[in-house]
Amino acid sequence: ASRPGFASPTGRALSPERSSEKVRVVVRCRPAHGEETAGGVALDSSSCQLTLHRGATGSVNFTFDQVLSQNAPQAEVYDTAALDVVDDVLNGFNGTIMAYGQTGAGKTYTLSSTDTEAVGIMPRACLQVFTRIDQHPQEQYTVLMSIVQLYTERIQDLLLPTRIDLAIREGPDGVFVEGVHQARVQSPSDCFDMLRRAERNRAIASTAMNAVSSRSHVVVMLTVIQHGSERLKKSLSTGDRANEAKHINLSLTTLGLCINARADPNQSFVPFRNSKLTRLLQDSLGGNAKTSLVIAVSDALEHVNETLDSLNFGTRAMMVKTKAVVNEVDMASMNLPQHSSDAGGSDDGGKQ
Ligand code: ADP
Repeated sequence: ASRPGFASPTGRALSPERSSEKVRVVVRCRPAHGEETAGGVALDSSSCQLTLHRGATGSVNFTFDQVLSQNAPQAEVYDTAALDVVDDVLNGFNGTIMAYGQTGAGKTYTLSSTDTEAVGIMPRACLQVFTRIDQHPQEQYTVLMSIVQLYTERIQDLLLPTRIDLAIREGPDGVFVEGVHQARVQSPSDCFDMLRRAERNRAIASTAMNAVSSRSHVVVMLTVIQHGSERLKKSLSTGDRANEAKHINLSLTTLGLCINARADPNQSFVPFRNSKLTRLLQDSLGGNAKTSLVIAVSDALEHVNETLDSLNFGTRAMMVKTKAVVNEVDMASMNLPQHSSDAGGSDDGGKQ
């Protein structure tokens, strides 16, 4: 199988530009709202500690890389969880930013809000990428964006109106989604158009299939190519939408198993291949990537058990190490789309 429009990073290591580090875990707690009762979580940002109050069952203490206060603005969340990862992407590494938590805990708000008062991580990452490009007018860059949805082990392209199932393939240089639409984006507003297009296509899919939005995962992939230095850079961000449906959600169950296996130094087998989500995130969970994980929880007393699950997941994820290597690519092998609308039919004509 070929890899349309996608060059193969050689992954050749340049010794000063190789880094091994652990997954960075940041907890974001949203305030209780509506009918919810506040008081489930007490946190101290300065010591990165958090206490979960479980009523009669007692309290549980946690320490993370960062614990954000309940009223932390989106800009602070970005600076804490994403800024360094995107910076590393611009220096040639793969980067991944993920959010995990129960439905309603704030994953979408954190990752993909385009509300002008509360812009989320993904649109801010696009702004950071293009700010850097603008600061280096002497360099030539190509930026490509792909957005897919994973639902019941099927992968669908959210930038195309078709509902064809895509396959994950593994080549000599890693895992990729075969035939995914790669929109060439030339400005932050091109990126926002693509994020909105994906949201629309997702809404259409959701009305066709019951409760899709709360049981699916969205993965936004941003590829930054700096020509001349022959480096291919990849950024990958996933919005995890559900852990309520664990029993039917193979991807999420397997994600937990993979995190457990990666966190245990005595366990060498990691079941990445058992689900689509973990296959796609294989590099992010132990391979060639710098990874940051936002654990989204709420202060609601009604949700302390789900919050405990999410915090335990985050604790295990803190033990996962990755080895990021600067990517280089043979530019001659690349077949890049010229602009965002030329790699396949889009539902709204695309952006030139
Ligand atoms: P999820 O994607 O985890 O299911 P959402 O991001 O949709 O959850 O959040 C659920 C609701 O809570 C939304 O109305 C969202 O605007 C609100 N919300 C989430 N996080 C925050 C926050 N940090 N501050 C204020 N409101 C929030």
